[in-house]
Amino acid sequence: MDFNLTVEQQQIRDEIRKVCKEFPDGYWREVDHNKAYPEAFVRKLSELGWLAALIPEEYGGTGLGITEASIILEEINHSGGVATACHAQMYTMGTLLRHGNEEQKKRYLPKIANGRLRLQAFGVTEPDAGSESTKIQTTATRKGDRYLINGQKIFISRVLQSDLMLLLARTTPYDALQDKTRGLSVFIVDLSEAKGKLEVKPLDLMINHHTNAVFFDNVEVPVENLIGQEGMGFRYIIDGWNAERILVAAEAIGDGRWFVERAARYASQRVVFGRPIGSNQGVQFPIAKAYANIEAADLVRYQAATKFDRKEKCGAEANLAKYLASEAAWEAANACLTTHGGYGFAAEYDVERKFRETRLLTIAPVSNNLVLAYLGQHVLGMPKSY
Ligand SMILES: Cc1cc2nc3c(=O)[nH]c(=O)nc-3n(C[C@H](O)[C@H](O)[C@H](O)COP(=O)(O)OP(=O)(O)OC[C@H]3O[C@@H](n4cnc5c(N)ncnc54)[C@H](O)[C@@H]3O)c2cc1C
Repeated sequence: MDFNLTVEQQQIRDEIRKVCKEFPDGYWREVDHNKAYPEAFVRKLSELGWLAALIPEEYGGTGLGITEASIILEEINHSGGVATACHAQMYTMGTLLRHGNEEQKKRYLPKIANGRLRLQAFGVTEPDAGSESTKIQTTATRKGDRYLINGQKIFISRVLQSDLMLLLARTTPYDALQDKTRGLSVFIVDLSEAKGKLEVKPLDLMINHHTNAVFFDNVEVPVENLIGQEGMGFRYIIDGWNAERILVAAEAIGDGRWFVERAARYASQRVVFGRPIGSNQGVQFPIAKAYANIEAADLVRYQAATKFDRKEKCGAEANLAKYLASEAAWEAANACLTTHGGYGFAAEYDVERKFRETRLLTIAPVSNNLVLAYLGQHVLGMPKSY
C-alpha cells in the first residue's frame, strides 16, 4: 500500500495547520482553565466546512473519506488543540448516512454541513451497562406516532453544546430477546424539543470535556426520527466502530507528535549540569522510543483508513491502530512530562493539559481492553473473553 499523501490530502493538512495557528496554546489553556467550550474554534471549523468532511456533496458537505477526516482531527491535536470537542460529528455521521432514510438525510445533513445544526452528542453509555452496551436500560416505548424515552445515560459529552443527539435506546426488553444484540434502536433526538423532560447534569472530570449525566423523563421523539429499522440499532452502532477507531487513532497520533516535538525541543534547550538534558541517553531515548512507536502506529492508521475508504474489511487494522496509537501517545505524554521535570506540571507549558487529554483515548470512546478482546477473539480466534 502506498501511504504517501495525495496533493489534496497534503493541502488539507496545510489548511488545518493554518486554521489551528489562529488558536494557539494560550487559547486552549484558557478554555481548559475556564472549563469552557472552544466555541470560537468549533464555529470557525464549521464555517470552513471541515466538520462536514464526511457529508456527501449532494447534502452540502465536502464528501471526503475517512483518511482525510482523520488528517483533520490529527492536525487539531498536533497543533496543541483537542479534537474531542467536535469529533463526534464525524464519529456519528456514518450511522445517519448508512442507515438513515432519504428524508432524514435531506432534513438534517445540509444544516449540519453548513453549521446551523450540531450533531455532537452521542448517547450510548449507561451507569449499569458500561462497556456492555447490549445491557442498556433506557427505553423507547412507542405511543402512536411518538416514542417516549425514559432512563439515564452517563458520560454523554457535549449535550449542552449540541442541537441533536444520536441516541441508543431499548425498544424490546432484554429478557424477551433471543439474540441480545437486537432490541435496541437509534434515534435522532432534537435537544431543543426535549427541554423540560431532559435533565443534563455536568460532570466534574479530570479533563475539560463537557460530559454529563443525562436523565430522560418521557422525552418525546417522533417516529420519523427512528434511524433504520426498530431493533437493529446496536448493529448500526457497530457499523460505525471502525471509523471511530481510525479517527481516534489519528487524534492520538496528533497528540503523540505534539509531545515528541515539545519534548525534543525542550530537551535540546534546557541546560542542567552544563549541557542540554537531551544529550543524556536517559532523557533522549524515551523520546526517540515514543517517536518510533507513534510512527509505527501511524502506518497502521493509514492502512486501516485506506482499507476503509476502499470499502474493504478493516476491523483488525482499525482496532490495531486505535490500540497502538493511543498507547504510543500515552508513552509520548509520559516521556514529555518527564523531560520537562517540574515544569511539566506548570499549566503554562501545556504538557499537563495534553497529558490529561491524551489519557482519555486509551479509555474512551472504547477502552483498550475491549480492543484487545476484539483482536483476541476476531483476529486470533481465541474464545470470547467477555
Ligand atoms: C470524558 C469521557 C467522555 C465520554 N463521552 C461519551 C459520550 O459522549 N457518549 C457515550 O455514550 N459514552 C461516553 N463516554 C463513556 C465511555 O465510552 C466509557 O467510559 C467507556 O466505554 C468505558 O465504559 P465504562 O466507563 O462504563 O467502564 P466499564 O465498562 O465499567 O469498564 C471498567 C474497566 O474494566 C475493563 N473491563 C470491563 N469489562 C472487561 C472485560 N470483560 N475484559 C477486560 N476488561 C474489562 C474496561 O476495559 C475498563 O478498563 C465517555 C467517557 C469519558 C470518560
